[in-house]
Amino acid sequence: MTTKVTVTGTGTPLATADRAGAGALVCHAETHLQFDAGRATVPRLFAAGSSPADLTALFLTHYHSDHLVGLQDLVLSHWTMDVYDEFGRLPIFAPNGPTTRFCERMLDLWDDDLEVRALHNMREPKPKIDIRGFDVPDVLTEVWSSSDVRVIAGQVRHEPIVGAVGYRVETPDGVVAISGDTVVCDEMAELARGADVVVYEALRMDVIAKRPPDKQYIMAYHADTRLIGKQMAELEVPMLMLTHLIPAPKSEADRQAYVDEVREGGYQGEIMVCDDLDSVVLENGSVFRASI
Ligand SMILES: [Zn+2]
Ligand SMILES: [Zn+2]
Repeated sequence: MTTKVTVTGTGTPLATADRAGAGALVCHAETHLQFDAGRATVPRLFAAGSSPADLTALFLTHYHSDHLVGLQDLVLSHWTMDVYDEFGRLPIFAPNGPTTRFCERMLDLWDDDLEVRALHNMREPKPKIDIRGFDVPDVLTEVWSSSDVRVIAGQVRHEPIVGAVGYRVETPDGVVAISGDTVVCDEMAELARGADVVVYEALRMDVIAKRPPDKQYIMAYHADTRLIGKQMAELEVPMLMLTHLIPAPKSEADRQAYVDEVREGGYQGEIMVCDDLDSVVLENGSVFRASI
């Protein structure tokens, strides 16, 4: 058995041609778990060998549009794929508050469309989404489990956004930590402790510090590459997948700069400056790069 981690989107609110919005997919056998649903998540899911209908559950990290703007598409695609028997509900786990409120309201704008389509094609008039809110936990808390996979949520630090979480997925093959959006913080260390792979958002402070003062605010709530390197070195994480890249690398030199800065933090493990659909596989206690 293996567990595969695929970054479905490496982008940010600033759209580019080649990067979908934030998201990561963790697959273990028939269990397909998607984390966040930024723009173009649905086509990336198919490209990753999954689909909305194949998802076991969806987990959201926080209420920022770059992590949610693909969610309506995902849910409506799930509906059009005729997954509506009693097992066809798509559970959506999210921190209580703005994120769950968004989920509750996200289909309202499609009421008329769904009603007409449902009459026309005999589908049920609403996708069977199943919103499972949870209070942002002070300590790591299990939010979903099956016979062999657990998903644990933990608070991260993305203020002024309150109620931001990251996730930790434990399978028989190993542990995956997904940062969501956060600064490097003790809470993230708890999520990533003992992980085989960490999907970590990353920001290059040196580059953003040269932007106009009114564009520097993002430095306050994203993860500094050098601090990521320091934290991941302390935790001895073997594989680091950098995503949500600010700025998006445009050249090999840009890409290398991410690696160099993480190394400056002291990290000696493997670093992937991810493109969409970059993957790793966990198997027999080891983790290695994979292709789709
Ligand atoms: Zn974001
Ligand atoms: Zn955010």
